[in-house]
Amino acid sequence: MRPLVDGHGRVHRDLRISVTDRCNLRCSYCMPEEGMVWQPRHELLSFEEIERLARVLVERLGIDAIRLTGGEPTLRAHLPVLVERLARLGTDLSMTTNATTLDRQAADLATAGLRRVNISLDTLQRDRFVELTRRDDLDKVLAGINAALDAGLTPVKLNVVAMRGVNEDEIVDLAAFGRERGIGVRFIEFMPLDASGEWKAGAVVSQAEIVAAIAAVFPLDPVPRGSAPASLWRYRDGRGDVGVIPSVTQPFCGDCDRIRLTADGKLRTCLFATVETDFRDLMRNGADDDHLASAFAAAVGDKGPGHLIGQPAFIRPRRSMSQIGG
Ligand code: SAM
Ligand code: SF4
Repeated sequence: MRPLVDGHGRVHRDLRISVTDRCNLRCSYCMPEEGMVWQPRHELLSFEEIERLARVLVERLGIDAIRLTGGEPTLRAHLPVLVERLARLGTDLSMTTNATTLDRQAADLATAGLRRVNISLDTLQRDRFVELTRRDDLDKVLAGINAALDAGLTPVKLNVVAMRGVNEDEIVDLAAFGRERGIGVRFIEFMPLDASGEWKAGAVVSQAEIVAAIAAVFPLDPVPRGSAPASLWRYRDGRGDVGVIPSVTQPFCGDCDRIRLTADGKLRTCLFATVETDFRDLMRNGADDDHLASAFAAAVGDKGPGHLIGQPAFIRPRRSMSQIGG
Protein backbone atom coordinates (compact mmCIF):
# COMPACT_ATOMS: atom_id res chain seq x y z
CA MET A 1 0.00 0.00 0.00
CA ARG A 2 1.38 3.42 -0.94
CA PRO A 3 -0.68 6.38 0.24
CA LEU A 4 -1.96 8.98 -2.23
CA VAL A 5 0.29 11.93 -1.39
CA ASP A 6 0.39 15.15 -3.37
CA GLY A 7 3.37 17.45 -3.93
CA HIS A 8 2.39 19.47 -0.85
CA GLY A 9 2.53 16.47 1.50
CA ARG A 10 -1.25 16.02 1.84
CA VAL A 11 -2.39 12.39 2.11
CA HIS A 12 -5.69 11.69 0.34
CA ARG A 13 -8.12 9.22 1.92
CA ASP A 14 -11.57 10.44 0.95
CA LEU A 15 -13.14 9.51 -2.40
CA ARG A 16 -16.31 11.14 -3.74
CA ILE A 17 -17.99 9.20 -6.53
CA SER A 18 -20.67 10.83 -8.65
CA VAL A 19 -22.92 8.04 -9.91
CA THR A 20 -25.08 10.17 -12.23
CA ASP A 21 -25.22 13.72 -13.52
CA ARG A 22 -29.04 13.63 -13.52
CA CYS A 23 -31.15 15.39 -10.95
CA ASN A 24 -34.85 15.73 -10.22
CA LEU A 25 -34.41 19.18 -8.61
CA ARG A 26 -32.93 22.30 -10.19
CA CYS A 27 -31.42 24.20 -7.27
CA SER A 28 -30.71 27.71 -8.49
CA TYR A 29 -27.17 27.69 -7.06
CA CYS A 30 -26.31 24.43 -8.84
CA MET A 31 -28.27 24.06 -12.12
CA PRO A 32 -29.66 26.43 -14.71
CA GLU A 33 -33.45 26.80 -14.76
CA GLU A 34 -33.74 25.12 -18.15
CA GLY A 35 -31.89 22.06 -16.79
CA MET A 36 -28.90 20.40 -18.40
CA VAL A 37 -28.33 17.90 -21.15
CA TRP A 38 -27.82 14.57 -19.36
CA GLN A 39 -24.90 12.44 -20.44
CA PRO A 40 -25.90 9.32 -22.38
CA ARG A 41 -25.83 6.09 -20.38
CA HIS A 42 -22.83 4.60 -22.22
CA GLU A 43 -20.70 7.59 -21.23
CA LEU A 44 -21.26 6.91 -17.53
CA LEU A 45 -19.11 4.44 -15.64
CA SER A 46 -20.80 1.06 -15.21
CA PHE A 47 -21.08 -0.45 -11.72
CA GLU A 48 -18.21 -2.80 -12.65
CA GLU A 49 -16.01 0.15 -13.62
CA ILE A 50 -16.86 2.12 -10.48
CA GLU A 51 -16.16 -0.90 -8.29
CA ARG A 52 -12.85 -1.55 -10.03
CA LEU A 53 -11.57 2.02 -9.58
CA ALA A 54 -12.75 2.08 -5.96
CA ARG A 55 -11.02 -1.24 -5.29
CA VAL A 56 -7.70 0.00 -6.68
CA LEU A 57 -7.97 3.17 -4.61
CA VAL A 58 -8.89 1.33 -1.40
CA GLU A 59 -6.67 -1.75 -1.65
CA ARG A 60 -3.57 -0.13 -3.14
CA LEU A 61 -3.73 3.56 -2.31
CA GLY A 62 -5.20 3.90 1.18
CA ILE A 63 -8.62 5.45 0.47
CA ASP A 64 -10.75 4.69 3.54
CA ALA A 65 -13.91 6.75 3.01
CA ILE A 66 -16.25 6.69 0.01
CA ARG A 67 -19.18 9.06 -0.48
CA LEU A 68 -21.71 8.60 -3.28
CA THR A 69 -23.04 11.75 -4.84
CA GLY A 70 -24.38 13.15 -8.12
CA GLY A 71 -26.47 14.83 -9.66
CA GLU A 72 -28.90 13.01 -7.45
CA PRO A 73 -27.36 9.61 -6.63
CA THR A 74 -30.68 7.95 -5.81
CA LEU A 75 -31.75 8.41 -9.45
CA ARG A 76 -29.16 5.88 -10.60
CA ALA A 77 -31.04 2.66 -11.30
CA HIS A 78 -30.29 -0.26 -8.97
CA LEU A 79 -28.17 1.87 -6.63
CA PRO A 80 -28.37 -0.70 -3.78
CA VAL A 81 -26.51 -3.16 -6.04
CA LEU A 82 -23.59 -0.74 -6.31
CA VAL A 83 -23.75 0.02 -2.58
CA GLU A 84 -23.54 -3.68 -1.78
CA ARG A 85 -20.43 -4.06 -3.95
CA LEU A 86 -18.71 -0.98 -2.50
CA ALA A 87 -19.64 -1.94 1.06
CA ARG A 88 -17.51 -5.08 0.67
CA LEU A 89 -14.44 -2.81 0.44
CA GLY A 90 -14.96 -2.02 4.14
CA THR A 91 -14.66 1.79 4.00
CA ASP A 92 -16.84 4.40 5.66
CA LEU A 93 -19.56 4.42 2.97
CA SER A 94 -21.91 7.41 2.87
CA MET A 95 -24.05 9.39 0.42
CA THR A 96 -25.03 13.00 -0.20
CA THR A 97 -28.64 13.24 -1.40
CA ASN A 98 -31.52 15.66 -1.76
CA ALA A 99 -33.62 12.96 0.05
CA THR A 100 -36.64 13.30 -2.28
CA THR A 101 -36.68 9.54 -2.90
CA LEU A 102 -35.32 8.33 0.45
CA ASP A 103 -38.72 7.44 1.88
CA ARG A 104 -38.78 4.65 -0.74
CA GLN A 105 -35.06 3.81 -0.79
CA ALA A 106 -33.53 4.35 2.66
CA ALA A 107 -34.25 0.88 4.02
CA ASP A 108 -32.84 -0.92 0.93
CA LEU A 109 -29.73 1.26 0.92
CA ALA A 110 -29.11 0.60 4.61
CA THR A 111 -29.56 -3.14 4.09
CA ALA A 112 -27.10 -3.01 1.19
CA GLY A 113 -24.45 -1.52 3.48
CA LEU A 114 -24.76 2.27 3.23
CA ARG A 115 -23.74 3.64 6.63
CA ARG A 116 -24.97 7.24 6.71
CA VAL A 117 -26.31 10.14 4.67
CA ASN A 118 -25.86 13.87 4.31
CA ILE A 119 -29.13 15.45 3.21
CA SER A 120 -29.26 18.79 1.41
CA LEU A 121 -32.03 21.15 2.48
CA ASP A 122 -31.80 24.94 2.35
CA THR A 123 -35.21 26.05 3.57
CA LEU A 124 -38.12 24.84 5.70
CA GLN A 125 -40.59 27.12 3.89
CA ARG A 126 -42.62 25.51 1.13
CA ASP A 127 -42.83 28.54 -1.19
CA ARG A 128 -39.14 29.21 -0.82
CA PHE A 129 -38.31 25.57 -1.47
CA VAL A 130 -40.27 25.76 -4.75
CA GLU A 131 -38.49 28.97 -5.73
CA LEU A 132 -35.08 27.58 -4.86
CA THR A 133 -35.37 24.09 -6.34
CA ARG A 134 -38.09 24.69 -8.99
CA ARG A 135 -39.97 21.67 -7.59
CA ASP A 136 -42.71 21.36 -4.95
CA ASP A 137 -40.97 18.56 -3.07
CA LEU A 138 -40.38 19.82 0.48
CA ASP A 139 -42.75 17.20 1.94
CA LYS A 140 -40.84 14.44 0.17
CA VAL A 141 -37.55 15.71 1.60
CA LEU A 142 -38.98 15.82 5.12
CA ALA A 143 -40.31 12.27 4.69
CA GLY A 144 -36.88 11.26 3.37
CA ILE A 145 -35.16 12.67 6.46
CA ASN A 146 -37.47 10.63 8.71
CA ALA A 147 -36.87 7.52 6.59
CA ALA A 148 -33.09 7.96 6.88
CA LEU A 149 -33.34 8.25 10.67
CA ASP A 150 -35.66 5.22 10.85
CA ALA A 151 -33.33 3.15 8.63
CA GLY A 152 -30.36 3.95 10.88
CA LEU A 153 -28.42 5.86 8.20
CA THR A 154 -26.91 7.80 11.06
CA PRO A 155 -25.50 10.19 12.01
CA VAL A 156 -27.75 12.02 9.53
CA LYS A 157 -26.32 15.41 8.67
CA LEU A 158 -28.06 18.29 6.94
CA ASN A 159 -26.21 20.37 4.32
CA VAL A 160 -27.45 23.94 3.98
CA VAL A 161 -26.03 26.38 1.43
CA ALA A 162 -26.34 29.80 3.06
CA MET A 163 -27.08 32.58 0.55
CA ARG A 164 -27.55 36.28 1.10
CA GLY A 165 -31.06 37.47 0.37
CA VAL A 166 -32.23 33.88 -0.15
CA ASN A 167 -32.22 31.92 3.13
CA GLU A 168 -29.96 33.77 5.56
CA ASP A 169 -33.06 34.58 7.66
CA GLU A 170 -33.58 30.82 8.23
CA ILE A 171 -30.16 30.00 9.64
CA VAL A 172 -31.44 29.78 13.22
CA ASP A 173 -34.62 27.88 12.19
CA LEU A 174 -32.54 25.29 10.32
CA ALA A 175 -30.14 24.95 13.26
CA ALA A 176 -33.15 24.44 15.57
CA PHE A 177 -34.62 21.85 13.18
CA GLY A 178 -31.37 19.86 13.48
CA ARG A 179 -31.13 20.25 17.26
CA GLU A 180 -34.66 18.89 17.72
CA ARG A 181 -33.94 15.75 15.68
CA GLY A 182 -30.36 14.93 16.65
CA ILE A 183 -29.18 15.97 13.17
CA GLY A 184 -25.90 17.88 12.84
CA VAL A 185 -26.42 20.82 10.48
CA ARG A 186 -23.52 21.85 8.21
CA PHE A 187 -23.85 25.28 6.67
CA ILE A 188 -21.89 25.58 3.41
CA GLU A 189 -20.61 28.89 2.12
CA PHE A 190 -21.99 29.51 -1.39
CA MET A 191 -19.28 28.68 -3.96
CA PRO A 192 -18.85 29.84 -7.58
CA LEU A 193 -19.96 26.51 -9.04
CA ASP A 194 -23.51 27.43 -10.03
CA ALA A 195 -24.24 26.45 -13.62
CA SER A 196 -25.70 29.84 -14.49
CA GLY A 197 -22.56 31.71 -13.43
CA GLU A 198 -24.45 34.14 -11.22
CA TRP A 199 -22.29 33.73 -8.12
CA LYS A 200 -21.09 36.97 -6.55
CA ALA A 201 -18.90 37.42 -3.49
CA GLY A 202 -21.70 39.50 -1.94
CA ALA A 203 -24.04 36.49 -2.00
CA VAL A 204 -21.79 34.50 0.34
CA VAL A 205 -22.96 34.44 3.97
CA SER A 206 -19.70 34.03 5.84
CA GLN A 207 -18.89 31.55 8.58
CA ALA A 208 -18.58 34.45 11.05
CA GLU A 209 -22.11 35.65 10.24
CA ILE A 210 -23.59 32.15 10.44
CA VAL A 211 -22.01 31.36 13.81
CA ALA A 212 -22.94 34.76 15.25
CA ALA A 213 -26.60 34.30 14.24
CA ILE A 214 -26.83 30.85 15.85
CA ALA A 215 -24.83 31.71 18.98
CA ALA A 216 -27.14 34.66 19.70
CA VAL A 217 -29.97 32.16 20.26
CA PHE A 218 -28.17 28.90 21.14
CA PRO A 219 -24.83 29.53 22.92
CA LEU A 220 -21.94 27.66 21.29
CA ASP A 221 -18.43 26.49 22.18
CA PRO A 222 -15.85 25.88 19.42
CA VAL A 223 -14.59 22.31 18.86
CA PRO A 224 -10.83 22.12 18.09
CA ARG A 225 -10.38 21.81 14.34
CA GLY A 226 -9.60 18.36 12.89
CA SER A 227 -8.87 17.46 9.28
CA ALA A 228 -12.57 17.58 8.26
CA PRO A 229 -13.51 20.62 6.18
CA ALA A 230 -16.28 21.66 8.58
CA SER A 231 -15.42 23.97 11.46
CA LEU A 232 -17.50 22.69 14.37
CA TRP A 233 -19.24 24.21 17.37
CA ARG A 234 -20.98 22.38 20.22
CA TYR A 235 -24.23 23.64 21.68
CA ARG A 236 -23.47 24.60 25.27
CA ASP A 237 -26.69 22.88 26.44
CA GLY A 238 -25.42 19.53 25.13
CA ARG A 239 -27.87 19.30 22.19
CA GLY A 240 -25.28 18.23 19.60
CA ASP A 241 -23.17 20.28 17.24
CA VAL A 242 -23.34 22.56 14.23
CA GLY A 243 -20.72 23.15 11.57
CA VAL A 244 -19.74 25.50 8.79
CA ILE A 245 -17.83 24.62 5.64
CA PRO A 246 -16.09 27.94 5.04
CA SER A 247 -14.70 27.19 1.57
CA VAL A 248 -14.75 30.85 0.53
CA THR A 249 -13.86 32.94 3.59
CA GLN A 250 -11.48 30.44 5.25
CA PRO A 251 -10.37 27.91 2.64
CA PHE A 252 -9.18 24.62 4.14
CA CYS A 253 -7.19 23.53 1.07
CA GLY A 254 -4.12 22.87 3.26
CA ASP A 255 -6.05 20.04 4.99
CA CYS A 256 -7.92 18.74 1.95
CA ASP A 257 -7.81 14.94 1.64
CA ARG A 258 -10.44 14.49 -1.11
CA ILE A 259 -10.49 13.30 -4.65
CA ARG A 260 -13.53 13.14 -6.90
CA LEU A 261 -14.62 10.85 -9.71
CA THR A 262 -17.25 12.26 -12.05
CA ALA A 263 -20.06 10.08 -13.39
CA ASP A 264 -18.22 9.83 -16.71
CA GLY A 265 -15.05 8.64 -15.04
CA LYS A 266 -12.88 11.77 -14.84
CA LEU A 267 -10.71 12.21 -11.76
CA ARG A 268 -10.76 15.72 -10.28
CA THR A 269 -8.29 16.43 -7.50
CA CYS A 270 -10.07 19.66 -6.49
CA LEU A 271 -13.65 20.98 -6.76
CA PHE A 272 -12.16 23.87 -8.69
CA ALA A 273 -9.76 21.84 -10.84
CA THR A 274 -9.49 22.84 -14.48
CA VAL A 275 -7.62 19.64 -15.35
CA GLU A 276 -9.12 16.13 -15.23
CA THR A 277 -7.71 12.64 -15.79
CA ASP A 278 -9.88 10.31 -17.84
CA PHE A 279 -10.06 6.95 -16.04
CA ARG A 280 -13.00 5.74 -18.12
CA ASP A 281 -10.97 5.83 -21.31
CA LEU A 282 -7.93 4.35 -19.56
CA MET A 283 -10.03 1.36 -18.46
CA ARG A 284 -11.87 1.01 -21.75
CA ASN A 285 -8.51 1.05 -23.56
CA GLY A 286 -7.32 -1.91 -21.52
CA ALA A 287 -5.23 -0.41 -18.67
CA ASP A 288 -4.44 -2.98 -15.97
CA ASP A 289 -4.71 -2.23 -12.23
CA ASP A 290 -0.99 -1.31 -11.94
CA HIS A 291 -1.48 1.27 -14.65
CA LEU A 292 -4.61 2.68 -12.95
CA ALA A 293 -2.81 2.92 -9.59
CA SER A 294 0.14 4.75 -11.17
CA ALA A 295 -2.22 7.13 -12.97
CA PHE A 296 -4.03 7.93 -9.69
CA ALA A 297 -0.69 8.55 -7.94
CA ALA A 298 0.50 10.81 -10.78
CA ALA A 299 -2.74 12.85 -10.90
CA VAL A 300 -2.78 13.40 -7.14
CA GLY A 301 0.96 14.15 -7.18
CA ASP A 302 0.22 17.07 -9.52
CA LYS A 303 -2.52 18.57 -7.34
CA GLY A 304 -2.23 22.34 -6.86
CA PRO A 305 -1.92 24.02 -3.46
CA GLY A 306 -5.50 25.33 -3.35
CA HIS A 307 -8.29 27.25 -5.02
CA LEU A 308 -8.07 30.95 -5.83
CA ILE A 309 -11.66 32.13 -5.28
CA GLY A 310 -11.74 35.90 -5.01
CA GLN A 311 -8.31 36.33 -6.62
CA PRO A 312 -7.67 37.63 -10.15
CA ALA A 313 -6.17 34.30 -11.25
CA PHE A 314 -9.34 32.33 -10.34
CA ILE A 315 -10.71 30.33 -13.28
CA ARG A 316 -14.26 29.03 -13.03
CA PRO A 317 -14.38 25.27 -13.72
CA ARG A 318 -16.28 24.27 -16.84
CA ARG A 319 -18.43 21.82 -14.87
CA SER A 320 -21.13 22.97 -12.47
CA MET A 321 -21.53 21.44 -9.01
CA SER A 322 -24.20 19.00 -10.26
CA GLN A 323 -21.64 17.56 -12.69
CA ILE A 324 -18.88 17.35 -10.08
CA GLY A 325 -20.79 16.08 -7.09
CA GLY A 326 -20.06 18.40 -4.17
N1 SAM B 1 -28.07 16.04 -5.34
C1 SAM B 1 -27.38 15.75 -4.13
C2 SAM B 1 -27.66 16.79 -3.09
O1 SAM B 1 -28.16 17.86 -3.41
O2 SAM B 1 -27.33 16.52 -1.93
C3 SAM B 1 -25.87 15.52 -4.30
C4 SAM B 1 -25.14 16.43 -5.24
S1 SAM B 1 -25.08 18.15 -4.74
C5 SAM B 1 -24.16 18.84 -6.07
C6 SAM B 1 -23.91 18.06 -3.38
C7 SAM B 1 -23.89 19.25 -2.46
O3 SAM B 1 -23.38 20.37 -3.17
C8 SAM B 1 -25.25 19.67 -1.91
O4 SAM B 1 -25.21 19.69 -0.50
C9 SAM B 1 -25.44 21.06 -2.46
O5 SAM B 1 -26.15 21.88 -1.58
C10 SAM B 1 -24.00 21.53 -2.65
N2 SAM B 1 -23.87 22.62 -3.62
C11 SAM B 1 -24.33 22.66 -4.88
N3 SAM B 1 -23.99 23.81 -5.49
C12 SAM B 1 -23.29 24.53 -4.58
C13 SAM B 1 -22.66 25.81 -4.59
N4 SAM B 1 -22.67 26.58 -5.67
N5 SAM B 1 -22.02 26.21 -3.47
C14 SAM B 1 -22.00 25.43 -2.36
N6 SAM B 1 -22.55 24.20 -2.29
C15 SAM B 1 -23.20 23.77 -3.37
FE1 SF4 C 1 -29.69 18.52 -7.77
FE2 SF4 C 1 -28.18 18.41 -5.59
FE3 SF4 C 1 -27.68 20.23 -7.51
FE4 SF4 C 1 -29.87 20.51 -6.06
S1 SF4 C 1 -27.76 20.57 -5.29
S2 SF4 C 1 -29.74 20.66 -8.32
S3 SF4 C 1 -30.44 18.43 -5.66
S4 SF4 C 1 -27.49 18.05 -7.70
